[in-house]
Amino acid sequence: MATVATGPSSERLSSFNPATGELIASVPIHTGAEVDAVVARARIAAQTWGTRSFEARSEELTAFRKALAAHADELADLIHRENGKPELEALTEVMMALGHVQHATGRAETAMEPRRVSAGLLANYRATISYHPLGVIGVIGPWNYPLFTPMGSIAYALAAGNAVVWKPSELTPLVAVRVAEIAAKTFALPDLLQVVTGAGSTGAALARSAVDKVAFTGSAATGKRVMMAAAERLTPVLLELGGKDPMIIADDADVEKAAEACVYGALTNTGQACISVERVYVADALHDRFVTAVVDEVRKLKVGGDDGHLGAMTSAAQVAIVKDHLEDAVAKGAKVHTGGPDAISGNYIQPTVLTGVDHRMKVMSDETFGPVIPIQRVASLDEAVQLANDTTYGLGSSVFAGKAARSIAKRLRAGMTSINSVMGFAGIPSLPFGGIGDSGFGRIHGDEGIREFTRIKSTAEQVMSIPMNMMSFRQPKNMPKQIRGMIKQLYGEGVVAKAGDFLRKLRG
Ligand code: NDP
Repeated sequence: MATVATGPSSERLSSFNPATGELIASVPIHTGAEVDAVVARARIAAQTWGTRSFEARSEELTAFRKALAAHADELADLIHRENGKPELEALTEVMMALGHVQHATGRAETAMEPRRVSAGLLANYRATISYHPLGVIGVIGPWNYPLFTPMGSIAYALAAGNAVVWKPSELTPLVAVRVAEIAAKTFALPDLLQVVTGAGSTGAALARSAVDKVAFTGSAATGKRVMMAAAERLTPVLLELGGKDPMIIADDADVEKAAEACVYGALTNTGQACISVERVYVADALHDRFVTAVVDEVRKLKVGGDDGHLGAMTSAAQVAIVKDHLEDAVAKGAKVHTGGPDAISGNYIQPTVLTGVDHRMKVMSDETFGPVIPIQRVASLDEAVQLANDTTYGLGSSVFAGKAARSIAKRLRAGMTSINSVMGFAGIPSLPFGGIGDSGFGRIHGDEGIREFTRIKSTAEQVMSIPMNMMSFRQPKNMPKQIRGMIKQLYGEGVVAKAGDFLRKLRG
């Protein structure tokens, strides 16, 4: 039985198993006032946590990671039951989330190390950039990876010295509630990682609250609403939105390997991943062989059941989006090889392979977020790249190719690219993760993902006095002449290349 969050709210939100319709448990619907109170408590925790040494934080984060690992089966079971994904995928998600806690813990001190930079013209200064915790981070998580995705912000925010208030999706609140209980027992500051539950309005309240940054994962439409709410206080936002990730198969690719990767990349998590392979462009010469290999691979997959490769879709609303995209594609002339709009039963969708698709179809332009592999034939690599970039999104992408692989990758307008693999970038914690355009902005993971939750401080320290003090009104009469000389020497036709050299020359 899942643990039920407690709180003063009288209204409650139920969490159902999308595979069976069974009620799992209910959680409070936190009001705006309750969210504000939670944020206020988090701020007190942040004040202490933020001044602790990296070593002290690392000790507590390591204890937290170990406590989560000790509950791995329980967390995976909650994810499996709330989200509908197979147990194996749920357990993998827990493992990947723990990898981020470990990585962020280990990297924080290095990523936030103060840096000396050139002082330029002010060569008598010591110039330093340093990184400091922001305070309280509001994390609004999605339902597709209810632990892994938010942990990509939470772990990095905590490691950088912040407190976190986490609002999980109303579809998957229980795993978050359990993680918060574990956190409260592990951290010396019980308010360091808190969870507020409820529907979109609770998320909106968090975005409007006094947090110092909002890290949001979800749709572009909701991301815009979050940004507008945060704008009321000029709170910065990090947006991890959806994608329409392209995959390009060049004519010298290994067809079998490309097909195997394509099927996994498109269908893992039942296609409900922001970095799912959402559309495939295959060189004319390989198209038919590739389609046959993909269809053969898809026919081996089992949908549903304890040993299924694909689980239930997480919500009926998402099933409706996928059905709409499939019907639209078929109406516009796509050919169905497996699955299709009629192969949907309740929250289960048979994996669907489509050919004869083009960019007029929703399945090639809008985020489908379901188990669909639309394959388009292309005449050249240029056409593949042009079509791949023909999107308002720009999250992930993948290329299967021989010698041209890196040059194709370079031309893809996306935040991340995998070469001869799919989703490789998501499994490497040191690589920053994020997109451009409608896929959002800001980065989680990697050193950039740690610094995302810091404020940058620039310090200019005068370490010696020089006769020519630019920061003073007490200037000699010949100052204009000296400045003209400097302009000529430094930026015009003079011989002195660096400001430091100039000042040394001036000092004699
Ligand atoms: P949303 O973007 O609406 O939900 C994401 C998160 O935002 C949830 O926690 C949700 O809470 C919360 N939320 C909803 N409204 C607000 C608001 N006004 N202010 C603050 N937070 C809010 O996703 P949907 O469930 O509607 O999914 C629709 C589409 O979004 C999918 O088809 C898919 O294309 C895309 N998507 C992309 C994801 C990704 O990983 N990039 C993840 C999920 C969806 P609650 O669930 O309680 O409403």
